[in-house]
Amino acid sequence: IIRVDQLNKSFGDLHVLKDIDLTVMESEVVVLIGASGSGKSTLLRCLNFLEMKNGGDIFLDGEKINKSTHDLNDIRQRVGMVFQHFNLFPHKTVLGNVIEAPIHVKGENKANAIKEGKKLLDKVGLEDKYDVYPSTLSGGQKQRVAIARALAMKPEVMLFDEPTSALDPELVGEVLSTMKELAEEGMTMVVVTHEMGFAREVGDWVVYMHDGRIIEYGHPNEIFDQPREERTRSFISSVL
Ligand code: ATP
Ligand code: MG
Repeated sequence: IIRVDQLNKSFGDLHVLKDIDLTVMESEVVVLIGASGSGKSTLLRCLNFLEMKNGGDIFLDGEKINKSTHDLNDIRQRVGMVFQHFNLFPHKTVLGNVIEAPIHVKGENKANAIKEGKKLLDKVGLEDKYDVYPSTLSGGQKQRVAIARALAMKPEVMLFDEPTSALDPELVGEVLSTMKELAEEGMTMVVVTHEMGFAREVGDWVVYMHDGRIIEYGHPNEIFDQPREERTRSFISSVL
């Protein structure tokens, strides 16, 4: 679904992504790991065109995506994203948050958006929270609203940038299990996380990044149990 070919990104003099090659096939879950500052968030943001790459190509369904030939809002609908901080609209109800973009961006009719929005909230376990405001929710509930809101645009791929890092430890599990269900239903996902248990259990592939490069790419068992690279080995032992 996604193919990245020799992607490069700099912020001024700072070369943050270096010759990144990555392919994500339909229904795969690819987990990105690596130290702080290694470029994981920047890579996700480039995939979603929240950051503009400086070099290389990004393909979506085999089609080369270009900011001059494509409507980036359209691309962002096809590539949904969930952030560490949930960025919900505080003055809208939970259901209001979920139906906002389908109605105003996609032009869906309201009744239909509400019906679909309720279904998504049921799916993430918030069937009793349609009409409350985000400020009354726990962090885990807010993050599940954010997931439902991203899903409401019917994306082809979902990007998750440390979706559980801002949560109290006891709330991490509910969000990870929502993500696991999504993966089991066949959603294509790219996930940046420090949750190595999730990476091992749900990931099809694990990508280890260091200093803007992909150092190692493999099945979770390979990466966690028999990393080929010394740098991967020392990172893994520092986080486990
Ligand atoms: P973390 O685990 O802390 O989230 P990360 O792997 O996601 O780290 P990035 O956020 O992608 O790392 O950052 C990679 C590098 O790019 C860092 O050195 C960071 O300071 C720099 N950087 C990121 N965004 C910008 C920006 N908008 N302007 C300038 N530099 C940036
Ligand atoms: Mg980051």
